[in-house]
Amino acid sequence: MALDLLLRQARRAEDKETLVDIAIAGGRVVEIAGHIVADAPAEQLDGRLVLAGFVESHIHLDKSHILERCDCEHGTLAEAIASVAAAKRAFSEADIYERGRRTLEQAIIHGTTRMRTHVEIDPRVGLKGFHAVRQLKRDYAWAIDLQICAFPQEGLTNDPGAEELLVQACEQGADVIGGCPYTDTDPYRQIARIFDIARRFDLDIDFHLDFDLDPSWMHLDEVCRQTDAKRWGGRVAAGHVTKLSAIDHSRLAEIGRRLASSGIAVTVLPSTDLFLMGRDRQPQAPRGVAPVHRLLDQDVTCSLATNNVLNPFTPFGDCSLIRMANLYANIAQIGRPRDLSTCFDMITSLPARLMNAADYGIAVGHPADLVILDSCDPAMAVAELAQPLFGLKRGRRSFTHAAATLHRP
Ligand SMILES: [Zn+2]
Repeated sequence: MALDLLLRQARRAEDKETLVDIAIAGGRVVEIAGHIVADAPAEQLDGRLVLAGFVESHIHLDKSHILERCDCEHGTLAEAIASVAAAKRAFSEADIYERGRRTLEQAIIHGTTRMRTHVEIDPRVGLKGFHAVRQLKRDYAWAIDLQICAFPQEGLTNDPGAEELLVQACEQGADVIGGCPYTDTDPYRQIARIFDIARRFDLDIDFHLDFDLDPSWMHLDEVCRQTDAKRWGGRVAAGHVTKLSAIDHSRLAEIGRRLASSGIAVTVLPSTDLFLMGRDRQPQAPRGVAPVHRLLDQDVTCSLATNNVLNPFTPFGDCSLIRMANLYANIAQIGRPRDLSTCFDMITSLPARLMNAADYGIAVGHPADLVILDSCDPAMAVAELAQPLFGLKRGRRSFTHAAATLHRP
């Protein structure tokens, strides 16, 4: 078979002691071996890390890059929701597309090859965000696989017309259905409605959940109950769950066992959670970031993600997932190499599992989605914020970073 490209002396995170050659043809990985003899264009990687790309399991393209339109004073969650709700009234489809494009391109050049973006649906913004992001999904399919999660940020059962619009988004190709029970006047009914829509359209579910620091109650209990009752295990994820940062380790382990048994994955949004939580607690403000690496002991699927970029929820952002892993390690006081390596897993293989991306990973027959990092070790990549050098999507080069040059005197 004629090869399109050979990557020579590549190092994979899952077997970092062994260097391999990776052969690519027709957009797929066709052979992985110690040394492949072939007459094909080759890239010499000299033992650098190759991964199947970073996986962004939770971001909001539609409300990114609106910092200059919002004037926030307190930095609380309630203020962020109200401020974006006001700004959203002036959104047009072209405006959402243009801001989403900037964010998506940032993610691509930081090595992300798969992404789940939440899109707000309600009677004020209608399907503008959904249509803009659906167009981005088509226009950037050469670089990234985009899953669209339609969700009601401002409530469902309290917002007449919202459910009809969510259903329309599902009819028009939403990949995932999302919920946000904490803004609903009837959270349990919202959870039930979301499960009903998921079953009707055969969709995975992704909730924004338990986004405060009061551990005396959790919507997670109801989500576990519904997941079991509807047999939707392996198809449900929960984002934030910051309440898990306010409980002791034994209760956390107990909840981990429940999540694992129900088949519910968890995504932590370190930058947003750290920015918004604990605003009323001074001095000694808590970090407010759920220590989900501890849930890996119970075999819960856990991921780290960007969430918001340059808006009142998170006035920062470059879409770098290696930066998010580094930030999480810093917040969670993780320093041992094997734990740092776990942070790497939480931006690669684990979010891929959360998104049920069965063809993720470097394997023969899988798409040649390959990102080369300037590092030889996953733990050190997290510790040193290793930069991606170039990436391939289905065998075609999708981005390149020029190496920095020192100009000595
Ligand atoms: Zn979110």
